[in-house]
Parts: sequence; C-alpha cells; structure tokens
Amino acid sequence: MDFASIDTLLPLAGAAAYTILLLSVWARDSQQGSHTRWFMGFLAASALWELILLFLVPNPVAPCLAAASLAAGTLLLALTTNAYVDWPQQQRWLLVGSTAILAAIALDVFFPRSLLPSTTGMTMPTTPGGLLSLLVWFSLSATILIKTWRNYQRTRLPWHANRLLHWFFFVLVTFAGELLLLNDTPWLQGVGQAVRLSGVLGLTRAVVSHRLFDVRARLRKALAFLLIALASAAPATVVLLATLWVTERLSLPSSYAYAFTFVIITAGLILYQPFRRFIERIIYRYLVGEEFQTSKVVRSYSQATSRTLDVEQLSLVIIGTISELLETTRGALMLVSRNSNHYEVEPIPAMGHVSREKVRFAADSRFVETLVNHRQPLLQYEVDFNPYYAEMDPADREWLSEQNMEVYVPVHTGSELSGLIALGPKHSGLAYRANELELVQVLADQTVIALQNARLYRELNRQNDRIRHLNTDLRQQNERLEILDKIKTDFITIASHELRTPLTQVKGYADILEAMNEEEDLTREQTREIVGHINRASSRLETLITAMLDASELESSGIQLAYLESRLDSIIRLATEPFTPALHRRRLRMEIKGVDDLPTIHADFKRLVQTFHNIIGNAIKYTPDGGAITVTAELAPSVDGESQFVEIVVADTGIGIDPQYHEMIFEKFFRVGNPKLHSTGSTKFMGAGPGLGLHIAKGVIEAHGGRIWVESDGEDKERLPGSRFHVILPLNPPAAPLAAVQPPVQEEEQEQQELPAGSLVG
Ligand code: ADP
Repeated sequence: MDFASIDTLLPLAGAAAYTILLLSVWARDSQQGSHTRWFMGFLAASALWELILLFLVPNPVAPCLAAASLAAGTLLLALTTNAYVDWPQQQRWLLVGSTAILAAIALDVFFPRSLLPSTTGMTMPTTPGGLLSLLVWFSLSATILIKTWRNYQRTRLPWHANRLLHWFFFVLVTFAGELLLLNDTPWLQGVGQAVRLSGVLGLTRAVVSHRLFDVRARLRKALAFLLIALASAAPATVVLLATLWVTERLSLPSSYAYAFTFVIITAGLILYQPFRRFIERIIYRYLVGEEFQTSKVVRSYSQATSRTLDVEQLSLVIIGTISELLETTRGALMLVSRNSNHYEVEPIPAMGHVSREKVRFAADSRFVETLVNHRQPLLQYEVDFNPYYAEMDPADREWLSEQNMEVYVPVHTGSELSGLIALGPKHSGLAYRANELELVQVLADQTVIALQNARLYRELNRQNDRIRHLNTDLRQQNERLEILDKIKTDFITIASHELRTPLTQVKGYADILEAMNEEEDLTREQTREIVGHINRASSRLETLITAMLDASELESSGIQLAYLESRLDSIIRLATEPFTPALHRRRLRMEIKGVDDLPTIHADFKRLVQTFHNIIGNAIKYTPDGGAITVTAELAPSVDGESQFVEIVVADTGIGIDPQYHEMIFEKFFRVGNPKLHSTGSTKFMGAGPGLGLHIAKGVIEAHGGRIWVESDGEDKERLPGSRFHVILPLNPPAAPLAAVQPPVQEEEQEQQELPAGSLVG
C-alpha cells in the first residue's frame, strides 16, 4: 500500500478525524442523551467506512462494502436526527434501514456480478447489492433533509428553528461531501472528504452543545458582504474601463493621458466613498437590520413610560415601543412579587393572546434564579435546550412553553426581581440579535421607576375599592341594624296593643255582665251576646299567645315536627277554607292550580296547614277588594336530579312589598307600616297583624328542609304590583325519620284533625 498516494492519505486522515471526534463526544459524558449515543454510532461507522476505503480499495468487492457501511452510517445519522428532533417511530426506521442494508450485503454475497462498467471511484459500487446500498443511503439522506426542513418551517420560535436549520445545513454539507466522493477525479474526492468532514464537524457541535450560531444571520451577513463587494467593484471597473477607452479613442499624448487618468481616478475615488457608504447602508438595512440610536430610543421610551401610571397602560406602552423598534409579534409585561419561598408572576398582556393566569415559581427555580442573578435576557431556547435547566419543574416548563415567548428580560428594583418583559418572536422570524437584546435590557432598566409607580398606583386603587366595598357593607349593616332596632321597640308597642285590646274587651264585658246581673235585669239574650263577645276576645288572646309561644319555641329549640305522609291538595284546601266567607265578602277570586297532580309529601300536616293559612291570609289582607289570589304548585327536580321538590307559589294582585323589606318581613314582630295599629281582623284589607305569621311560616318550612322567599316589584297602593311567595319543600325531608314513614292518611282523617290555634295569626 502506498501511503503517500492521495487514495490512501485521504481515508487515513478521515478515519483519524472521525475517531478523534468520536472520542471527544464520548469524553463529554455530561449529556449522553439517546441522540448522542446514536451519533457516536454514526462517527464509528464513518471511521469504519474510511478504513474500508483505506485497506480494501481497489478491490472489486470493496466499493460495495464501502457503500454498505456508508448506508449504515446514514441510518445511524437518521436515528440521531430522530432523537434530536423528537420524531416518533424510531423502531420503524431502525427496522426498515437495517433490513435493507442486510439485504444489500446478502445480494453482494450471492450475486457479486457487476452491472455497470467498473470505475475507480472510491465509493461507487457496481454490483446489485452495492447499488441497493447506494439507494438506501440516498433515500435516507433525502428523508432526513426533507423531514428536518419541514420541522424547521413549522417551528415558530427563531432559536428553536435555528437549531433545526443548523442541523439541516450540516446534514446537507455531509451529504454533498458524500456525493462528491462518488466521482473518479482524485482532487474532487479530496474536496468531498473535506466537505463531508466539515459537515460532520458541524453536526458534532450541534450534538455536544446547544449554543449554535445563527445560521440565517450568518448567511445574510455573508450575502451582504458579497453584494457590497460586487456593488463597489462594479463602478470602479466602469471608471477604469471608461478611462482606458477615452485615452485610447482620443489618442492623447502619453503625458496628457496620464494626467487625464489621474484626474478621472481621483474624481472616481472622491465620488466612490459616499457611494460605497450609501450602498452599504441600503444593503445592511435590508439584509442585516439597522443599528439604533440607543440614546434617542431610551429617551423617548423613558418619556413614554414615565407618563403612565396604570399597569395595563404601562404594559401597552412598553411592548408597543419595543414592537415598533424590533417588530415583535407578541409581548407582555409580567409583574413579579417575591413571597417567602416563591415568586409569583402575573402576566399583563399587551400584544397577541397571552393568558392572565398567575403562576408561582419556587424561589430556587433555575428560571427565576438566572434572571435574578444574571440580570440579562433569558431565551426560551436556553430553557428548552441548555442542560442547566433540564431539572426544572415540568409544570414551570409547561407554563413557559405555553407563553410562546422568545425571550424574558428582567426588571430589577434594587436587588429584587420586580418584573419581566416577555417578548415573542419577530415578524421576520429572525432571532433577536445581541445588540437588540442589549437594547431591550437597557429599556427594561429604564422601566424600574415607572413599574414601581404603576404598582403603587394599582395597590392604592385596590385599597380604595376595598374601602368603598367596606363602606357599602357598613351602610347596609347599619340600615339592617336600624330596622332590627325598630323591630325591638315596635315589639313592645305591638305586644301591648295586641294583648291589651282583647283583654280590655274581656274585662269590659265581664264588668257589664256583673253590673247588669246585680241590677237583675239581664235577659237570656243579653247574657248570650255578652258571653259571645268575651269568648271571641279570649280566643283572639289565645291565638296571639299561641303564636308568641310558637315564635319562642322556634327561637329556643326549633319547631318539633310530626311527620306524616300528607297530600298537598288537602293542606291547601284546609288552609283556604276558613277564608271562604271573607273571599265572598271582599269579592276576591281564589284560584288553585296543580295541587291535585302531586305525589304525597312527607311532612308535618298541621304545621303546613298553619303555614299556608298564614301566607294565603296575608295575600287576602294585602289585596284590595276585587283582586285575585293564585296558588300554583308543581314538581321540581333538584340539581342533582335525585331528590324531588314541590314548589308552591302564592301570588296576589295586592299592594306589593318594597324590596328592602323582602328579608325583614320574615323577622319576628316585623311589619311594614305603623306599629301602633293593632290587629284588625285577619281578613280586612291592610288589617294589621302582630308580625309573627311569616316568621313562624319560615321556621316551619326551614325545619322541613325547604325554603321560603318573596318576590315583588315594590309597594304601590295605586299600581298594585302584587307579591309572589315561593315555598320549596322536599318530598322527603332529609331530617325526617325514614322509618317513621306512615301510610298515606285518608283525606277525611286529615281534615278531622284539629287545626293548631296559631293558624289564625297572620
Ligand atoms: P302580619 O301579622 O303583620 O301580617 P306577617 O309576618 O304575616 O305579619 O307579615 C309581615 C309583614 O309582611 C306584614 O305586616 C306586611 O307588611 C307584609 N306582607 C306579608 N304578606 C304580604 C302580602 N301578600 N302583600 C303585601 N305585604 C305583605
């Protein structure tokens, strides 16, 4: 073997280079992810391939072996790409690729005949197996390139996209180098080896470190440089050619020709400098981006932010100004507050869709830690690919990736992190350049005072709101207390009025009876009449006292209920029957709907009759003559759909109730209006009562596990808005002893049961 010939030198150098690369990747054992392992396989295959070229070529079978090892290397590169880019279906690649390569080797063993005329190309195979290997190599390389390119196009964040572009670019270089190796020309093969090696070098860099150069920015810079060189060379050439042409045409004597040339070139150079600067400016503006006048930007930014006190507004101003400058697509100001062991981050969206959801980062989270300590912009790319952040809490990582931001710029107040300026990718899709990030950091530093002011202002507003709420609450409480206080004083007046009136009647009639009796001129008729008066007055007294006892029972131990299977139609009928004469007298229409269709209800029959008696009695009392009262009942399922309720609504066309009293009327002794009026009968229009009926009704309904409330548009004796009393009762009250469920009581039996004395209160 001639070690001096290029055919042997190149593979030797190649094998050595790939082995060194392999060792260097292996030595950096910090991040042996699956892609690193596959890549080491690829480097080993590359070295093996070079050794095959070194020892076996020229040999009729060797190109085929070389092609098979090249294809195996490409398969390993495909698997590396798979893991690097996070594609699924790694197994499938491995299976299909290795089967094809094994098939190619087998073909070579069984059909070693050349199909093509033999060449001296280092890797150009001619046997069917060799050609199959070549096909595998080609299609794998093309697939890697196409898939990486598609992924690159789909990636929105520029540094993430750059990572893929970088990979694509160096796979392309590697592939181009391999293509060059297929030809026969020795120097082109040398170029091929060099190109492939540089491609693999680029790939190695991408595997061992996440810090990659910005491919697009480099390409643009190179293009700009080339264009400037061309644009500058063109006018110089024109001037030179023009001078030559003129001196030749005019056939000037040589001294004149020299002078003329000197003048032209001097003029050309004088004009050339500004022209070159002009060209440079234009090309740089379109290809690389403009430089800023930092001081001017900072001044106008500071002015804009210092005029803003509102946090939302501040966010808009900050992101708006930066976006105008750098053409960002999204952005938000994020307020950061430090608590004992965590940082709370609250986004204030300004541009694009940003969630307002607050998030907490542990105080030792690497994301916050870096921003606090380094005081420099942090790229999302770093969080995703720098192994330093690999240990971060997955929830934090997810939140950050949901934000879809490209960079987070810290705002510090003293040594504390007080805010973040989060910026999304640029419109152009290009990454932020170093000088742009520097500028944004300068702007963030200028934001400190404005941010502090805005936060104070917001806190002040919050306190004001809180005080306003407290004031309203306090006023409402005050009003309620005033009413309760009034109820207390009214109680004395009401009780004395209510009790004294029937008592005076009893005493008066008893005195009359006694006086007449002494004079012995009492007829039977007169005695019956006077005793009747005394009876009515003492019944009234009894009713009142029973109601008061009910109310106090409610207060002390709660109402004791005796549960029975009861029919609502019987309850309502018994509650309304005593009012029949009054309804006639006052020409009131009474309508009862839906009660017949209801199932039986497990409840205290007597107490419910008393309750509805009170409610319907009120409806009669507060509805002027000729009005209407409607009782409607229906079955209502509960929200959970399991337990069932009945809803009974007693609606009237009466004077209505002022909304401010909708809760008060259920209080003990409360009645709207003058407390000095005493009970004037249970059915007279606007006849006053002691203010106990609804209180007892509420106690009974709630003891059943139900609810009672009133709806009315207000009190108006002219317009008569009416009131609607709603009662909701469970069919099976939770408090009812289920074992005590009794068979439905016959209607007649229920009707025979004595009504409670309190039923006439209301
Ligand atoms: P009262 O014995 O005074 O009727 P209640 O507790 O039954 O006591 O009612 C309390 C107050 O609620 C009544 O004084 C009355 O002002 C008001 N009220 C009750 N029902 C009605 C109604 N249907 N229409 C208008 N006001 C009503």
